[in-house]
Amino acid sequence: MSNKRKLIIIGSGPAGYTAAIYAARADLKPLVLAGESYGGQLVNTTLVENWPGHKDGVMGPDLMIEMRAQAEKFGAEMVDKFAQEINVERQPFMVRTDKEEYLAEAVIIATGAESIMLKVPGEERLLGRGVATCAVCDAAFYRDKVTYVVGGGDAAIEDAMALTKFASKVVMLVRKDEFRASKIMAERAKNHDKIVIWWNTELKEVMGEQKLEKIRVVNNKTDEEREEQADGIFYAIGHKPATEMFKGKLELDEKGYLVTRLGLSAQGISLAQNYIGENRLVEYPTATSVEGVFGAGDVVDFRYRQAVTAAAMGCQAALDAEKWLESRK
Ligand code: NDP
Repeated sequence: MSNKRKLIIIGSGPAGYTAAIYAARADLKPLVLAGESYGGQLVNTTLVENWPGHKDGVMGPDLMIEMRAQAEKFGAEMVDKFAQEINVERQPFMVRTDKEEYLAEAVIIATGAESIMLKVPGEERLLGRGVATCAVCDAAFYRDKVTYVVGGGDAAIEDAMALTKFASKVVMLVRKDEFRASKIMAERAKNHDKIVIWWNTELKEVMGEQKLEKIRVVNNKTDEEREEQADGIFYAIGHKPATEMFKGKLELDEKGYLVTRLGLSAQGISLAQNYIGENRLVEYPTATSVEGVFGAGDVVDFRYRQAVTAAAMGCQAALDAEKWLESRK
């Protein structure tokens, strides 16, 4: 097959696969550069209970296998390679892996983001077994359990609040003696009767055989170390979008997220303002700063970061790409 395509989708999480399903059903024959460890963040989870249509939950890896098969069924072509370079300066756009160079009229970027990890001993082994990165997703598994949240930003407090609905106790491990979070959120955490805050405290190790049993923490002022019983620990120390490859080529916000007209940042809003059509609506809301390049999922979204919101944006990007390709005929 020639290396020229109508549409290339980079990424294979819920956004990338959903874009592929829609684009394939629109007969765009999309090529998906799915990456060598394809499937996105859900591959590292266990039971997903908030994906609609599965009342008893669905295992994250199973859901991603199904999504991929669904896209393939309609004619999406999967290449399990990482995109390494992109050129969006002229048409057709070029995307290169370590093996091949592909050309495309339109590109959807759905490369996602990853939670920043602490890389303490035991973490890799216990990830998904008590060590977690999304309290909104997993809080319900911790009914009457002792839980911890690492971080002092808005996300950490939001996670702690989500856990209070289920857990018997939520301890926040904050490395400084103050929150980074907004005042209102900080007050909420300080005043909550289930939340305990350990200031100047850092996580050193997570321990347990099959699942998390204990954590080791240190007070960075006194150097005092101690071990504590723990059922769950949630990291909320930030996310890193996978946008290295797009630096200097597409507009990114200060934290490195891809800016689209639909974006949640001030940059997204100002970008959108330049594209209000005659009907007073923003044209191609998922478009990035380069026409014909669209963005979807966690690489754009630093706020909701849910599988279902990523999938929805993947659908939007595919519909925008289809319409945009049609307009060029
Ligand atoms: P932030 O960058 O705001 O906060 C990260 C927190 O993690 C800080 O307290 C930081 O500590 C801590 N941290 C970073 N690295 C480490 C480490 N190695 N060990 C221990 N602690 C560490 O990220 P968030 O994800 O909280 O938020 C991202 C953005 O999204 C922010 O702009 C936030 O306001 C926004 N947001 C808004 C929400 C809302 O309005 N409801 C909800 C969620 C996010 P330190 O302060 O010491 O650097």
